[in-house]
Amino acid sequence: MVSVLLRYQELALKGKNRPWFQRHLIRHLRRALTGLGVREVRVPMGRIEVVVGRDSAVAEVRERLRYVFGIANFSVATRVSLDVDAIGDGILRDLPIGDPSSFRVRVRRADKRFPVRSPEIERVIGGRIAAARGWSVNLRDPGLTIGVEIVPGEAFYHFGKEPGAGGLPTGTGGRVVALLSGGIDSPVAAWRMMRRGCTATFVHFHSYPFLSRASQDKARELAAFLTRFQLSSRLQLVPIGEIQRQVTLAVPSALRVIVYRRLMFRVATRIAARVGAHGLVTGDAVGQVASQTLENMAVTGAAVPLPVFRPLIGMDKDEITAAAQRLGTYPVSIVPDEDCCTLFTPRHPVTRARLDEIESAERGLPIEEFTEQAIRQSVVERFECPAIVSGPPPRPGS
Ligand code: ATP
Ligand code: MG
Repeated sequence: MVSVLLRYQELALKGKNRPWFQRHLIRHLRRALTGLGVREVRVPMGRIEVVVGRDSAVAEVRERLRYVFGIANFSVATRVSLDVDAIGDGILRDLPIGDPSSFRVRVRRADKRFPVRSPEIERVIGGRIAAARGWSVNLRDPGLTIGVEIVPGEAFYHFGKEPGAGGLPTGTGGRVVALLSGGIDSPVAAWRMMRRGCTATFVHFHSYPFLSRASQDKARELAAFLTRFQLSSRLQLVPIGEIQRQVTLAVPSALRVIVYRRLMFRVATRIAARVGAHGLVTGDAVGQVASQTLENMAVTGAAVPLPVFRPLIGMDKDEITAAAQRLGTYPVSIVPDEDCCTLFTPRHPVTRARLDEIESAERGLPIEEFTEQAIRQSVVERFECPAIVSGPPPRPGS
């Protein structure tokens, strides 16, 4: 039996909201670790302990934990009785093979009632390890850090910490509708909101059959990837090619991108009402392309009453690209596709749209009908993680 000791983002979880955050995190953890033989989830003082019954599942547990928001870091650990000798015995038995050249023991006494102070425990256990292995102690930059955590009635030891996904537990931030284009920026933007505890409903607009299906496949792949973090997602694929074609008949070419965008926002707002979302999310950054000037973003946002969140607004393309690489969405995002906004769009769209100008261009269009048509013709797909594996049905009585 192995324990995985999770430490959450302390500051954010302080105060009276803590039990509520904790409940979300634990519920999410149980789902994320489905099928991996988790025996129990416990809450020893300021930490969460996941008791894994099968040693062989630990690698997969670690992998899945990397996608759980609200965890600052975690350690694969062993629980022992609260006794300095017992802790030392366990550590000596389990010390990793190989010579780390130097080590240190770091004790955290979360339960201050335990009478032996941390430096004393470190000295005793460190002495035993040095004597048994001949390793030298290095407090500044050790090759191996052996952690001991003292909580009420028990202790844990481990041989290092791994970084968690950070942020706040999924489900604590409310729902948003994330506009997912298939490009580099929008998946990073959605992820940033998700990391703050929001649950995202994804919407992708495409111009099939005017353009290929490639963008939809990318949106699916990105939604499936992001689902690792929130465990279940809904992706709504909305066709707007025909609507775009009709827009070209009535709207001067320079204004079309703005009109398309406002349509997207209206459709996304309908979806938001259906799923109970409180805002839209886009991957815009100031000045990145013509449609992302302050003026144009203001005019686009004015089409809907919901707030539009743009978590990448102040980032450079290089920074966003690096974030996409770290996140893991970059390889999917750079697969060539045909973005719907390139359809029926001029090379030089307006960079400083005026609201009155756009509103008068829209006056001749059946906006309400367009919005409804787009929703009606859209398709909803669902993603679950861990993917529901269809095996043989359970035998009766088992
Ligand atoms: P991205 O890399 O996210 O595609 P971009 O730099 O290409 O962004 P734009 O094409 O101007 O910029 O899109 C700005 C934002 O509008 C996108 O980040 C996305 O949130 C939304 N968006 C654009 N096109 C679509 C689409 N086809 N479906 C859904 N959302 C879209
Ligand atoms: Mg794009």
